[in-house]
Amino acid sequence: MKFIFADAQDYVDPHYDFLNDVNGEGRQPYWDDQYPHEILYHAPYDGILVSRAIVGSPGINGKYSESQSMRLRRVGAREYLRFNRPEHLDKPIFGDCGAFSYSNLDVPPYTAVDTVEFYGDGQFTHGFSIDHIVFEFDSNAKDLSGGSTQSKERFDITLELASEFIKESSKQLGQNFTPIGVVQGWSPDSLAEAARRLIKMGYRYLAIGGLVPLKVYEIHQAVAVVHDVIQQWPDVKLHLLGFAKADHIHEFTRYSQIASFDTTSPLIRAFKDNKQNYYLPSKNGSLQYFTAIRVPQALDNNKLKNHAKTGRYAQEDLVRLEQEALGRLRSFDKGEAALNETLDAIIAYSKPLYWSPTSSEESMKRKLHTLRLQYQHTLEASPWKSCNCPICRTASIETIIFRASNRNKRRGIHNLRVFYEHLNKTRVV
Ligand SMILES: [Zn+2]
Repeated sequence: MKFIFADAQDYVDPHYDFLNDVNGEGRQPYWDDQYPHEILYHAPYDGILVSRAIVGSPGINGKYSESQSMRLRRVGAREYLRFNRPEHLDKPIFGDCGAFSYSNLDVPPYTAVDTVEFYGDGQFTHGFSIDHIVFEFDSNAKDLSGGSTQSKERFDITLELASEFIKESSKQLGQNFTPIGVVQGWSPDSLAEAARRLIKMGYRYLAIGGLVPLKVYEIHQAVAVVHDVIQQWPDVKLHLLGFAKADHIHEFTRYSQIASFDTTSPLIRAFKDNKQNYYLPSKNGSLQYFTAIRVPQALDNNKLKNHAKTGRYAQEDLVRLEQEALGRLRSFDKGEAALNETLDAIIAYSKPLYWSPTSSEESMKRKLHTLRLQYQHTLEASPWKSCNCPICRTASIETIIFRASNRNKRRGIHNLRVFYEHLNKTRVV
């Protein structure tokens, strides 16, 4: 089961100066920055997924600048991502349309022709058909009953585009490209029907889309029913598209025809999760998680800037609290500050950070107490000291500080590596 990392320009500046919080001198973003497979030396994934929604196209803004988007189409995704060292060459590069980005439109903004052109220019090894997300999931609807008018329309649109896509891709891209048909449906039975129709069109690789909002037991229902269908064709493979519950992936090894899944979740959770920001393998073979310590930049953080504007806190006091928190953390790392004085400094800075006009003093106290316990757990364990990845070895305690992109993404990249090693231990390849 291959882990395909969905990239959203997740690179970091290798020369970032943590003490002064500035980029390396003369740094040119993208050119001087490093992707996870560069900063870690080894790719912490089996392949990369690039979405049209991230690259952008005329009239649709992505994360790439216009010249970056042109470069990807000119040199191909592998060279663009610098995923072209000899050891990378057998690793696939998937392309998709990023159905979430247009899920509020009546119809997808892409056609089979322009999608095949994008995959061709980008020299993708695999590409998904254009799908339209069905948000509804009714476990009990039988056959093609149930489902809103919108869900049924999207089911039809997805299949129609898939039919055009496979014809166009076999005409333009030939044998070196693998088209993947995306299954959308509002119930297990409608998903099964979509899978049957895609196989009939000629697809030998299917993907189940729309998984992001589903609960784990619903994902199991969806996967089980599609897997049942494809078992009649042992050469058909299955991909889980946007599998956000990556920590549950071991539960899916029982479906023997799942060949791949894509996710960003180990990276994203480094800075989007409230508690589980830093991954480490645990002794019982699972993963353990730690809370990153929030020390945002006083002059950049909106809430803190607002305090300075309204006069609730003076800006110089906020900067002093910030510097004290950072200083103590670094001293703690060197064994020169005690746990409690370090926590005191962090919590002193957390007060303005977590202040809310609607919270009573009591509830603020409780909140800060919980936070202190979480941070205490992180500092006592000092997990960055038990990790030998190039990031933790060089950035040390900076990895666990929740503060701007260069620290947060580094932590995310560290998580990718921990997740990938965990996966390698648990999966049946
Ligand atoms: Zn690490």
